[in-house]
Amino acid sequence: MFDALANGFRQAKNRLAGLTELNEQNIDTALREVRLSLLEADVELGVVKAFLARVKEKALGEVVKLKTKTAEGGTMKVTAGDQFTKICHDELVAFMTAEGPALAFAEKGATGIMMVGLQGSGKTTTTAKLARYLQKEEKKKPLLVAADMQRPAAVEQLQVLGKSLGIPVFNIPGETPLNICIKAREEARAKGHDVIIYDTAGRLAIDEKLMEELGSIKESVHPENILLVVDSMIGQDAVKVSKGFHDKLELTGVVLTKLDGDARGGAALSVKEVTGAPVRFIGVGEGTDKFEEFRAEGMASRVLG
Ligand code: GDP
Repeated sequence: MFDALANGFRQAKNRLAGLTELNEQNIDTALREVRLSLLEADVELGVVKAFLARVKEKALGEVVKLKTKTAEGGTMKVTAGDQFTKICHDELVAFMTAEGPALAFAEKGATGIMMVGLQGSGKTTTTAKLARYLQKEEKKKPLLVAADMQRPAAVEQLQVLGKSLGIPVFNIPGETPLNICIKAREEARAKGHDVIIYDTAGRLAIDEKLMEELGSIKESVHPENILLVVDSMIGQDAVKVSKGFHDKLELTGVVLTKLDGDARGGAALSVKEVTGAPVRFIGVGEGTDKFEEFRAEGMASRVLG
């Protein structure tokens, strides 16, 4: 996970190894390494530029500080490599940190979480993972709603997953997804569920019909959270898909799946900067326990060693 990014930052640091201070030249050399690694990791071009500009500005600021300190007769105790790494770390965190908690909970009644995404992104699996997470970590009593009537096997898939977790799955065969979602709220009230997770339909690409269906579910059930599930293996398209969904639905967050594979991880850095919707959770395997809250600090440390 994030290997491509980590390699590039390591090389930049190596270039500065042994140097006692940052200066304009060695900052530029190090930034060139970082630029290559960001592009290789599929970070969106605009994000690459913005990131490099911010790191450069901070690093040059350090050069000025160093000069002032030396003029005053003081010495710097950190090496150029460490200084540069620290700046990159702070900027990585700033690019990825989300505002507010990963999930908003309703003050009264059941909390709604609407899961959206393209087919194959891992939406149904992630719906079950999230239910398990809420049950274990937040001691909630979730109700899963199978409202993906687009993919024939999705309902059964969620039922199998729900059964293995001991979490009920609500569905009404032959009903429209919208009616299923509306009726699920009555079911949750009757059975005392405090979280409702809606697994909505996916398609192969974003289209009007899909967005209309999702829009009408959003308007009817007013979920506190709308999470887009995106496959990190699709590289830069992950950012395009996120933007497409966010423009129509105002996502509260993104779940990046399949980060355990050989995805290059650039989406983790690009999504929030491009769309405004932060990454909230990550999927790191097929099992329902392979799911984590996304932490910018942890990711930055992983990349920078
Ligand atoms: P949906 O069409 O979006 O509902 O996708 P599914 O939930 O059926 O997932 C598609 C495939 O991706 C399945 O084989 C899942 O097991 C797999 N998958 C989902 N999330 C992850 C993940 O985080 N890591 C890995 N390796 N596979 C995943």
